[in-house]
Amino acid sequence: MLKPDRYGILEFKLGSNDKNHKIPIENAYKDMTVPDILTIRIEKDGEVNDVVVEVENRAIEKPYIGGYKDAHTDILYHHGYTQTGPPKPKVPPELKNHRDTQTYFTRNRRTEQDYSRATQVTTKGIYLPNACDRILTPGPYETADERERRIDIEGKVRTIQRYYRAWMMRKKLKEFSDEYQKRLRIALEREEKERIEDAKRRKKDLVDKVFPVKTEDFAMLYSMVDRWKKSEIERITSIHCGPSKIAEFYLLLEKEIEIIQSIERLRTKVNKDVEKKQIIDFFKAIGSPIEWDSDYKHIHISMDTMEAQKGREYFRLYQRLCDQKATKEDRLQTYLDIKLYLNTHKCNERQEIISLIDRMCEFLARGMSESSLKVLQKRIEALILHHFKMTECNEGVTSHPNKLRIKQMTKNLIYCQMCQKMKAIEQFTINARSERIKICTACMWLDKAEEPWVDLSPYKFILRQIRNYERLHHGTSSIAFIMQDRDIQFIVTVIWHGHSALSECADVYQLRLVRWDTEQEWSPWNCILLTMEEAKAHLRLDRLNDMYEQEFRNHIFNKHALARKHFKNLSSYDKHFTEFSKGDWKLDEWSDYYSRPNKHECDIEIEENKEEEGEKSSNSNGINSEDDDECTCKKIFEKSTNSEELNE
Ligand SMILES: [Zn+2]
Ligand SMILES: [Zn+2]
Repeated sequence: MLKPDRYGILEFKLGSNDKNHKIPIENAYKDMTVPDILTIRIEKDGEVNDVVVEVENRAIEKPYIGGYKDAHTDILYHHGYTQTGPPKPKVPPELKNHRDTQTYFTRNRRTEQDYSRATQVTTKGIYLPNACDRILTPGPYETADERERRIDIEGKVRTIQRYYRAWMMRKKLKEFSDEYQKRLRIALEREEKERIEDAKRRKKDLVDKVFPVKTEDFAMLYSMVDRWKKSEIERITSIHCGPSKIAEFYLLLEKEIEIIQSIERLRTKVNKDVEKKQIIDFFKAIGSPIEWDSDYKHIHISMDTMEAQKGREYFRLYQRLCDQKATKEDRLQTYLDIKLYLNTHKCNERQEIISLIDRMCEFLARGMSESSLKVLQKRIEALILHHFKMTECNEGVTSHPNKLRIKQMTKNLIYCQMCQKMKAIEQFTINARSERIKICTACMWLDKAEEPWVDLSPYKFILRQIRNYERLHHGTSSIAFIMQDRDIQFIVTVIWHGHSALSECADVYQLRLVRWDTEQEWSPWNCILLTMEEAKAHLRLDRLNDMYEQEFRNHIFNKHALARKHFKNLSSYDKHFTEFSKGDWKLDEWSDYYSRPNKHECDIEIEENKEEEGEKSSNSNGINSEDDDECTCKKIFEKSTNSEELNE
């Protein structure tokens, strides 16, 4: 048996029998192709063995590009494909020439023909008339300079230019003067509008004080009482002392109780009206068609369902029932209709209503007085309303409003720490300073330690002025629209101490919060509290540094730093809202939502929408601005009180 040495190498000797053939050592591998497999015959002890030996050629080291490795012997096997070059092209590149490039030849040709023309002169045989001929005689010689001077083109051009420029100037002057007049007119109109608005809100405040409707109106009244009481106490303590002082205080207390009682009486009256409004709201909810904005061409769609039509029918029936001016016959007819409507029902309410109606009809037939029928009438109305609201009897008219309510109630619920109820975010008052929402609006109303009576209407007006100004100057920040009346009240009373920075005027109806630096957008740290006249003058200033002294400016900057501290979260809110509303085409004044051609398909009143666009951004996130709500509420309320559809 063959045995390798201790290094694992078997040594062979290669010999040749031919003496002429010599194997050169240097080119042994080159000249002689070493076969891959050798068969070696070994003679040992008289036995002959044939051993097959595989020869590994190590003359070159093949790069490993692909292949596999024997796990037992660690031998690398290369793929044949990785070791051979690219295949030969089928057509050699020298044959790849286009025939045309090899065979085309060019020629030059003339395309224009020679052109010749004959002229004729008078000869013996031909007569040419010379009546039209002209004889030219040379004038005196003139140099180019002299000619130029004589013609004077430059001077004429100058004249034309002069007249043209004068005409242009007159034209521009007219345009500018028109523009100036227009701007003047707009400014005057705006001023006039502002003045009217101011007068109107004063009137409105007065009306609200006399006929309070909303919670703010009552807050206004209570704050008035508060102020009056404080001034009275001051007066009494300055004039009286001893027993007379006590007596005066007693009188004051009695007077205050009387006033508060009368305010409370007003409130109960308003609450009654609110009940009526709730009934109308209910019928409005079940009777109005379902509306939404379609994604397709932004069309506003309104779908009148069978349920909505049914709801309107119910409303008509209810109106007829509540009509106090109806004659006896009409009323009997109405009761009959109600009976017919209840015919198919099998509920307990039906029995009750029918027995009441029977009793009513009997009373009417016997001619009993109106006052004795009143209670019975009230009971019938309440029962009918209750029956309309019952889901098992009303043929699904309340299903859509109920669905909406459930949807609204399942999201944005917040826990009120005071009344310990989960309430929707709309029922919380949010301002720009609040970091956490803790107490709902209803609880806030009760807890006067949390929030004393404040008359917010002047601050509301100031806020509206700020928003108008920002809208007019196309401000891009939403800070003015995030701010609420309460924040303005805070800025005016706490930061600016409730008086103008210049004149110390403390009449809140006179005060305006305007931009400090007119180039920057309005924010609590870029504003100044001034009176109306001062504000107008301030907004016209170009360079604040020249106009105001260093000391005054420092004073203002201190206020701004204070505001920045109090409203530290405002910037992040602003960023959030700006991000949030980025793709919303309803919030973009220039989007085709407000200029689209198919307005008729969706009756949008553009002016109104533009007014609301600012508030929408805050509404969408729960900060309620109430402005548009108010209008509808008021309208409905007026309707309910004026037209005597319901019994008083
Ligand atoms: Zn029923
Ligand atoms: Zn609460």
